[in-house]
Amino acid sequence: MKKILQDLSYAETESLVLALGEKKFRAKQLFEGLTQGKAITEITSLSKDLKAKLCEEYEDAPVRIKERYFSSDGTEKYLFELADGNLIEGVLMKYKYGYTQCISTQVGCRMGCKFCASTLGGLIRNLTAGEILSQVLVVNALHKGEVSGQGKEARAVTNLVLMGSGEPLDNYDETIKFLRNVTSENGLCISARNISLSTCGIVPKMYKLAEEGIPLNLTVSLHATDDETRVRTMPVAKAYKIDEILKACEYYFEKTGRRYYFEYTLIAGENCDEAHADALIKLLKGKPCHVNLIRLNEVKERDLKALGEKEAYRFLGRLEKGGLSATLRRQIGVDIGGACGQLRAGYLENN
Ligand code: SAH
Repeated sequence: MKKILQDLSYAETESLVLALGEKKFRAKQLFEGLTQGKAITEITSLSKDLKAKLCEEYEDAPVRIKERYFSSDGTEKYLFELADGNLIEGVLMKYKYGYTQCISTQVGCRMGCKFCASTLGGLIRNLTAGEILSQVLVVNALHKGEVSGQGKEARAVTNLVLMGSGEPLDNYDETIKFLRNVTSENGLCISARNISLSTCGIVPKMYKLAEEGIPLNLTVSLHATDDETRVRTMPVAKAYKIDEILKACEYYFEKTGRRYYFEYTLIAGENCDEAHADALIKLLKGKPCHVNLIRLNEVKERDLKALGEKEAYRFLGRLEKGGLSATLRRQIGVDIGGACGQLRAGYLENN
């Protein structure tokens, strides 16, 4: 596989262009072209000669949209093809203030959560920073001009969630590099405050993240209130206990001043009766956090069942009454395989 130009920061692109014997301003043209979601060969301001030289070493387009799916609720889902033929997926959710894109950080995943389709075939490989970024660049380009009032180049994608396939903190260095590049003034310049990073709770990396000086929203997939229950659906719970996770969250808050979030997927008969609600209240009450409840998107390879909508609202009500800040995430894109890894798994099965 060739190298990936979108891995580079602006300063690195400048050094590359100079090393190729070109004038410095070419770096700006190149970087702008890539930020606009173009393939190297599509950047008209650059000479054919320079583009040919770049294409000898670098992928012309590291991420291409292979399939695009439209949900009746406006949500879009994409199947992306990487240069080596691997497939990843992403979702775009449209809100009044802008578009939120859900992106992947790995091909597959090795965390093994029982409810999640991304992990069915294990981890295939990590994505590079540029492959993570390119998902945003191509989708942003596709929706150019649709969101008004966002200033810089009428950016359409304004918010990002690292909740697609993969565990971002298991691909730590590339994820951090991506975060620096996507928030950089020269690039898409998406505010870190508009980015949520979701982790299954890799404690040492949560501490490390707190030191990076990137004020993003840290979200932890909790899904249980005690370690015995948690380990049944999340093997990572063998390595990191809930109280260690909570300490790491506290540290994140101390360092960044940002409140943190928990995701709690409601799995019928597993983690969502009244006693679980009360245990969750006991665990989190008074902490600077917010709980996002998710109704399980049933994965056909697993026999876990979703909680009914009415029961889910009852669970939410109990949390709120108990003093927690919580919401039940609206189910969107269910008709297009909205949950992590479902699209790729389905595609691989049928093709
Ligand atoms: N590895 C990271 C990010 C990817 S998963 C993490 O574990 O947080 C993003 C969120 O979707 C997690 O909270 C995950 O537990 C949840 N999720 C995965 N599959 C799901 C499904 N089938 N139904 C509901 N939520 C799911």
